[in-house]
Amino acid sequence: MLITMKEMLSVAYERKFAVGAFNIGNGEFLRAILETAEANESPVILAIHPSELAFLTDSFVAYCREAAQKAAVPVVIHLDHGGDNADMIRALRCGFTSVMIDASKYSFDENVRMTREATAIAHAAGVSVEAELGTVGQAEGSIEEGHDEILYTDPREAAEFVSLTGIDSLAVAIGTAHGMYPKSKKPKLQLDRLRQIAAVVPVPLVLHGGSDNSSEEVAQSIQLGISKVNISSEMKKAFFTQLRANLEARPNEYEPTVLFPAPIDAAKALIAQKMNLFGSVGKSSLYR
Ligand SMILES: [Zn+2]
Repeated sequence: MLITMKEMLSVAYERKFAVGAFNIGNGEFLRAILETAEANESPVILAIHPSELAFLTDSFVAYCREAAQKAAVPVVIHLDHGGDNADMIRALRCGFTSVMIDASKYSFDENVRMTREATAIAHAAGVSVEAELGTVGQAEGSIEEGHDEILYTDPREAAEFVSLTGIDSLAVAIGTAHGMYPKSKKPKLQLDRLRQIAAVVPVPLVLHGGSDNSSEEVAQSIQLGISKVNISSEMKKAFFTQLRANLEARPNEYEPTVLFPAPIDAAKALIAQKMNLFGSVGKSSLYR
């Protein structure tokens, strides 16, 4: 069942669970994500970043739509970190049901201007919009842009931003970074700040850079208003660590049907663990 992000997150927000948004870098991840969601009766978000879309090409999205429509659970196809209207319009033409417009690197006024324009276009096409205020940091091994210094989201600005732009969900900066953290630099989430933002912002909140954070802090953040958590690096690491081991163990093996099943299972285990942490297991029936 293919639905919009607004439909997906309104239920999660009300019932205080979060839906995982897992980045699809290739076809194996699509399978791992959808099969795990079905096995756990969990709603799920397929996230595709513009650089992933450039690699996968538009026809891959048609394959995602077909798979999502046939899935036994609710599915959103979401553009992760759209940088401009060109990214967004490409996604609309491909049939995404949600887009993120990320103008967080610009000034507040410019972010508002770009986001408001993008929201008007996407809403005219019946597609949900996520935007970002503040900046998510950059750790290791991520294709997403990030910032060396995190600019934390200001609660009052956040409330103003949402009312000026009409977005459906807001990505907040409360201390996470994209990618995997170096051992010396484990993040601490600013849960008080999140509480203040949630008190004044009337839409579901989104946590980017969800890989590699403390499970306890992520669980707390969901109780405080986070309804979508993005996971990319951690799932890809699980897959490729296992694939690397397979390739080393079988240097003369070239069959995808032999090499890929164990990495897919490794990704599935990580996805299932996150769905449990986010509280989305067993929630697909809420969408019927
Ligand atoms: Zn992100």
